[in-house]
Amino acid sequence: MTAALPPARLTARAVVRRYGGIEAVGGVDLVARAGRITALIGPNGAGKSTLFDCLAGTVRPDGGRVLLGGRDVTGLAAHRRVRLGLARTFQQIAAFPTLSVADNVLVGAEQHARRVDARAAAERSARALRLLGLQELAAEPAGGQPTGVLRLVELARALAGGPRVLLLDEPAAGLDAVQTARLVSVLRGLAERGMALLVVEHDAELVAELADTVYAMAEGRVVAAGPAAAVLADPRVARAWGAAT
Ligand code: ATP
Repeated sequence: MTAALPPARLTARAVVRRYGGIEAVGGVDLVARAGRITALIGPNGAGKSTLFDCLAGTVRPDGGRVLLGGRDVTGLAAHRRVRLGLARTFQQIAAFPTLSVADNVLVGAEQHARRVDARAAAERSARALRLLGLQELAAEPAGGQPTGVLRLVELARALAGGPRVLLLDEPAAGLDAVQTARLVSVLRGLAERGMALLVVEHDAELVAELADTVYAMAEGRVVAAGPAAAVLADPRVARAWGAAT
């Protein structure tokens, strides 16, 4: 079971990805450590999504390496990385509208397992639903739910596979204040239990509240990295980020 995999870090080493003449990611080093929340920030077009996709395996880098724990996964497809304990959420929510909230989460539990054990998958799904406060909506069709709920369903689906590394693309988009507070406490709890989390996030206040470590990107490169408070106070970051927000 994926859930039994030990904690692991996710590492990018000198990752490069070009689109035509543009270097969307121009040689980035990044480490998302086990037990920590790492945030990736930067203005539109900085290369955050491209790096994120290189880490998840949906985009193949032109140079550099991606390591999951000690293992080089650069050449592995996204679904193979999922089975090694790497889960992600998407900025664009992709729930199955006719399936119930619970079944949407169950799909995640089954996707992540190397061998599907139906009972274990059901237990992990139930746990993820509870963790995100979705039990009361479990039987409802996902189709009618507001964005805030669907974002939590998406997160529950990622968690149901028992990942050791979780990549989150703007997890708070569309959440209200109560849901955001819950999200922060859930993500903190996951990190405390040894998960490595990497969050792409636009909201500076949320980054300050959530992240232990921040990498700030601009024009395909990391312009500052380190403890959240120091990076957020860095004038280069304020210049690059402030211009876009
Ligand atoms: P945003 O905050 O707007 O999502 P970002 O920091 O995630 O921005 P990317 O989406 O990674 O930035 O884009 C980095 C650069 O790569 C941009 O110049 C973008 O136009 C270019 N780019 C990204 N994806 C593609 C693609 N599939 N084809 C061509 N160019 C792309």
